[in-house]
Amino acid sequence: MNKGSKLYEGKAKIIYETKDKDLVIQHFKDDATAFNNLKKAKVEGKGVLNNRISEYILTNLAQCGIKNHFIKRLNMREQLIRKAEIFPIEFIVRNIATGSLTKRLGIPEGTVLEKPLLEYCYKNDELQDPLISKDHIFSFGWASKKEIEEIDITTLRINDLLSGMFRGIGIKLVDFKIEYGKAWNKDSEKKEIVLADEISPDTCRLWDIKTEKKLDKDRFRRDLGNVIQGYQEVARRLGIMPEETNISEVNFGKTTSIKFKKK
Ligand code: UDP
Repeated sequence: MNKGSKLYEGKAKIIYETKDKDLVIQHFKDDATAFNNLKKAKVEGKGVLNNRISEYILTNLAQCGIKNHFIKRLNMREQLIRKAEIFPIEFIVRNIATGSLTKRLGIPEGTVLEKPLLEYCYKNDELQDPLISKDHIFSFGWASKKEIEEIDITTLRINDLLSGMFRGIGIKLVDFKIEYGKAWNKDSEKKEIVLADEISPDTCRLWDIKTEKKLDKDRFRRDLGNVIQGYQEVARRLGIMPEETNISEVNFGKTTSIKFKKK
């Protein structure tokens, strides 16, 4: 699949056109950002790992009937996806209180929530992705009532599926963010709602069940060190790459090497 011109560049990914107007290429960068872009760094190998982890998760979700944009992996950093018109909303699910929930409402860190809490944020970097209500979504036409009804059900189902997937490998799914878009379905000749973007340690909080060690982007946000090792641990436990795999690639003239250690 030939890469066309750049359509969009975000903080962690780039989207390229292809010859097919309904398909685009999603490229995972090594850039990490936090606190509304105030903190920035390159985490070598992050893009490669997120490409694989997101592929694994979206493929598994598709097998459970969750329609999504993923088509196939093209190389270490790129995947072919369906082009989707993204709703300007971040859908956040929380199982355990941490992050902005504890800061905003004073809920003690680590409180296990009685049932999953669904939050909506308006996707707008300049406004720092503010928390919004469903009425904001309907008032400003960011999605319809029917669309949100469908997305809410799918989102809670994704939470169940992912919680189970991670529990099986000794990881607690603390919270996560997902995005949806509308993509063209050739068969029905209609647009349909699909899960889009990525699901990876950049967008989830993942804690080891026994030790509560953080295996996600909080290692970067909170300067805990060993960021890539956390992501690698998730990939290793998911069985995505054989143990002792060495990924070596030439990246902007530099060689990046990720070594998977044997337990
Ligand atoms: N999240 C994300 N992108 C965002 C904001 C949040 O992927 O722009 C994820 C984050 O990784 C966490 C969940 O959404 O898994 C809830 O994040 P929170 O609102 O606590 O954000 P914080 O301000 O603490 O990053």
